[in-house]
Parts: sequence; structure tokens; C-alpha cells
Amino acid sequence: MIIHFDDGREPVYKYRDIFKDFKGSIVWFISTSTIGKKQEGNRYYTPHNYATWDQIRECRDLGWEIGNHSHEHKRFIAMTEEEMIYNIEKSQKIFQDELGEKPTKFAYPFGKFDAKTEEVVMRYFDYRRNTKREDGNYGVYKERPEQLTDKELLIFHSLAEKNPKSCEYKVDELKKLLCMI
Ligand SMILES: [Zn+2]
Repeated sequence: MIIHFDDGREPVYKYRDIFKDFKGSIVWFISTSTIGKKQEGNRYYTPHNYATWDQIRECRDLGWEIGNHSHEHKRFIAMTEEEMIYNIEKSQKIFQDELGEKPTKFAYPFGKFDAKTEEVVMRYFDYRRNTKREDGNYGVYKERPEQLTDKELLIFHSLAEKNPKSCEYKVDELKKLLCMI
């Protein structure tokens, strides 16, 4: 069982203890331009901050793998090759400076990719996530958690104690889910 968190949002750090008995692997995909910044509330998220590098390092030290989610979090399919390379190389440099190593895994911003993005991204990474699952589509976890297999990949963006918005998963429901897997 694999859990991916996308973007680098502080609530993921805040609720990190939920995963202390989780036996699978966790990859936290970070967009380097947003680190430590504020996120205004919208229909996808309640207001929160992005995690800081100290918080990301703390999760890394818990055994989480840190992945690359680009620098600017823009759609790669709308970029020139130069823009893709800029986003990858700029973020990899920041990861190297902050973590002492470069991520080997990549997740496309908004999950959008095509043959050209794949060709560029695969020059830099051992793994890139190219599933078709859309952002915020958590129904599968809620509707049939008993059918999850140990090969399943769960993708989250952020967590909320109550009234989760569409890209947030409710903390209590996540605890229940983790007991079933
Ligand atoms: Zn994202």
C-alpha cells in the first residue's frame, strides 16, 4: 500500500502521527515555490499554510520519501520543453540544497501529462506518477475501502478535522481507512 500526498500542505505535517503505525510507504510530493507560504481558502481548501522545510525534513526523518511536484505547480502539458526543464532543474536544485539529495520520483501538477512531458520528465526521474485519477476524487476510498489491495495507491492533498473541502480528506475518516488497510 502506497500513500501519496501532493503539493506540500501543512495539515499533512500536522496530522503526521496518524501514520506512525502505517506499514506501507509514503511519498510527499512538494512544489518548491510554495514552501512556507499561505493558502487562502477556496472551494478546494480551507485556509492553511504550506509546510516549511523544517517540517518536510521532520517527515523525511520519519521515513517518508520526498518527491518532486515541480517548482511552480503549473500544467506541464502547456509548457515548452525549456519551461519544463526550468521547473525540474530549479526544484531539484532547491531539494538538493534543503534535503541534501534530489528526489527520484515525480508527480505531474494537476496530474496532466502527454507523450512530450513524459519524454522530458523521464530524463530526470526513475518514477513519475501518470495515473488518470483526478485531483480530489476520493470516492473510491470511501465507497469500497474493503476492496483496497496492498498494491493500491492512495492520493491525498490535504487533511481537515471537520467540514473538509473537495481536496481535503477528513481526519477521522482517514484514521478509519488506515485501520482497514
Ligand atoms: Zn498538485
